[in-house]
Amino acid sequence: MNTNRIAVLPGDGIGPEVMAEGVKVLKALAEADSSFQLEMTSFEWNSDYYLKHGRMMPEDGLTTLKNFDAIFFGALGDRRIPEHIPIWELIMPIRKNFNQYVNLRPIKQLPGVKSPLHTEGPIDFYVFRENAEGEYSNMGGRLYQQMPEEIAIQNTVITKKGVQRLARYAFDYARRNDVTKVVNATKSNAIIHSMGLWDESVKAIAAEYPGIEVEDAYIDALAAHFVQRPESFEVIVASNLFGDILSDLGAALVGGLGLSPSANLNPEGDFPSMFEPVHGSAPDIAGKQAANPIAQIWSAALMLEHLGRKDLSAVVMKAIEQVVASATTLTPDLKGNARTFETGDTIVKQIHQQM
Ligand code: NAD
Ligand code: MN
Repeated sequence: MNTNRIAVLPGDGIGPEVMAEGVKVLKALAEADSSFQLEMTSFEWNSDYYLKHGRMMPEDGLTTLKNFDAIFFGALGDRRIPEHIPIWELIMPIRKNFNQYVNLRPIKQLPGVKSPLHTEGPIDFYVFRENAEGEYSNMGGRLYQQMPEEIAIQNTVITKKGVQRLARYAFDYARRNDVTKVVNATKSNAIIHSMGLWDESVKAIAAEYPGIEVEDAYIDALAAHFVQRPESFEVIVASNLFGDILSDLGAALVGGLGLSPSANLNPEGDFPSMFEPVHGSAPDIAGKQAANPIAQIWSAALMLEHLGRKDLSAVVMKAIEQVVASATTLTPDLKGNARTFETGDTIVKQIHQQM
């Protein structure tokens, strides 16, 4: 029987608080099911580490992580260090070097969760965000700094291969799930070079999937449609920046960031994939046991599915759904007064009842 080796990176702020609950859930599963072998190794690579060592992770950090089956990540961000440091020195190197080019973000309204919108049906769709290139590039520069003529140039990198592999993953998902329409988030009418190639690359892949229609939607209009008819979407493909924004908006439609998980997938499996909540380190509520751990626990469910344990993933999802629907131990973001660990404990209790 193979052991699942998980690298655990709790991070900053509420990261360690919600991670403790994610780890608790994974341990509960391993205790209840002897066929699920688990070996978790924690790495304190966060802003404290940066303040001590001048870097976000050791020089051989990526080499260390490379050998794990998956990475379970909390959140980073700390007011004491510049905002771009954790992103560019830890999160981006992992996503880019490990070819985690699919950022899968389910936008799913759980039974009992009220959307701030008055929608017809349940909201349930996937944003497939390109995760390795695009607008989040460090190419470009600043000229004439501090002068009235100062200019900044930021390059977007779109590659045909990069878009096609993301699109192929999304269309494969659509085909497996009998989805007949994929919405392509674009802005090729204004951003002609990069988004032009984006659209062409998505269409080239769409041509390989006869029964599936691709609908181009300009990002600005699409944002409006998210609010007007979110229940009409099933699969969306989006660039790095557009996907980032759409998935936070989507999260707000289905109960907020406390209920929004994500998977950074390396579909080829040559490097580990990474699982993390969509939210950040939430310094405004950190250290108070006020954060909702469900996004982190749901991310664990995505990780279990990736590790080939769909059965355990379903157990976790059912436990989350029961706890949310019963509304007894929810955190303040969901109008409850439970603390982070209480929500985690209740989910673990539900898991034990199922196993
Ligand atoms: P954020 O997601 O941390 O917080 C946004 C709002 O949502 C806050 O009001 C926060 O209290 C609330 N919130 C977030 N998660 C919650 C949870 N689990 N339960 C209850 N409420 C929750 O975004 P921000 O405020 O824009 O950024 C804070 C820091 O996080 C910044 O340093 C930013 O760079 C970083 N960040 C990191 C990641 C990441 O690690 N992948 C992602 C986004 C932001
Ligand atoms: Mn984001």
